[in-house]
Amino acid sequence: QAKQVSRSSFQFFDNRFERELQTRLQTIRELRYSVERKCLRLYYQPQVRLASGEVFGVEALVRWQRTPGELVSPLLFIPAAEDSGHIVTIGEWILRQSCIQQQVWAKRYGRDLRMAVNVSMRQLKDPDFLGMVREVVAQTSINPQHLELEVTESLMMEDTLGLSAILQQVRDMGIGVAIDDFGTGYSSLSHLQRLPIDRLKIDRAFITGLNQNAEDQVIAALVINMGHLLHLQVIAEGVETAEQRDRLLAMGCDDGQGYFFGKPMPADELARQLFG
Ligand code: C2E
Ligand code: MG
Ligand code: MG
Ligand code: MG
Repeated sequence: QAKQVSRSSFQFFDNRFERELQTRLQTIRELRYSVERKCLRLYYQPQVRLASGEVFGVEALVRWQRTPGELVSPLLFIPAAEDSGHIVTIGEWILRQSCIQQQVWAKRYGRDLRMAVNVSMRQLKDPDFLGMVREVVAQTSINPQHLELEVTESLMMEDTLGLSAILQQVRDMGIGVAIDDFGTGYSSLSHLQRLPIDRLKIDRAFITGLNQNAEDQVIAALVINMGHLLHLQVIAEGVETAEQRDRLLAMGCDDGQGYFFGKPMPADELARQLFG
């Protein structure tokens, strides 16, 4: 009897694994098709100076328009795009599109927002990455000072792949580098000090509990102070309330991003809100 049970649960696991794999492969097939059919959309979320409330930049966040009525979250397809390598093509489109958008706003409204673009490890490892970035900057005539790349902290943990040398060259072009989701990894102070970066983004996980949880407060304060010690700018992500904003401001945090200031939105909606 016991044997029967374990066999059928093995069977169940097996089927589930197969189903997950099928879904993933299906996602990858659809993604390839979608890139060709131009089914990706960029949303833009404001980044704000906490002290003045001024919007100085935006972060580009990709969505997948899978069907006319369905907008898929990047959390659901970026991992598949990374595994399959599609992220290299997708990422180039995202970078070019967001630089074009930055220039459209600059020309139309005379406002040079800083454009922050997420970049995956898989993209940084691509041998053509730096050449691609150089080409996009040249083609779109964006001032590299108005461009920033966001890489996740976990990605920078060990530098066996020489990623910090790549980031150094990104900075040599005049482009900014931010460490995204900071606080969730295990970067030491000495490791951080060696990284060629300009900004830390405190992970949303620590902002959520800012006014309830003493530990989150300590971590946020630590990141802010550590960042400033290393002459880095610090931005908090996932700011949803005025209380969180006030607390961050009191702790000396430079900038913020989150629903309190504005949700990610299509370019025309952002333009209406900011310039309209
Ligand atoms: P991320 O770069 O850390 O982006 C922040 C995420 O938090 C976004 O989710 C944003 O919509 C969400 N968010 C912003 N403010 C708030 C808030 O106040 N409250 C809450 N609850 N959430 C907030 P999104 O757009 O679903 O993106 C998820 C992740 O997908 C991003 O995390 C990033 O890692 C990845 N991603 C998004 N776009 C791209 C892209 O163009 N390229 C790559 N490689 N990854 C991307
Ligand atoms: Mg980001
Ligand atoms: Mg983040
Ligand atoms: Mg995050």
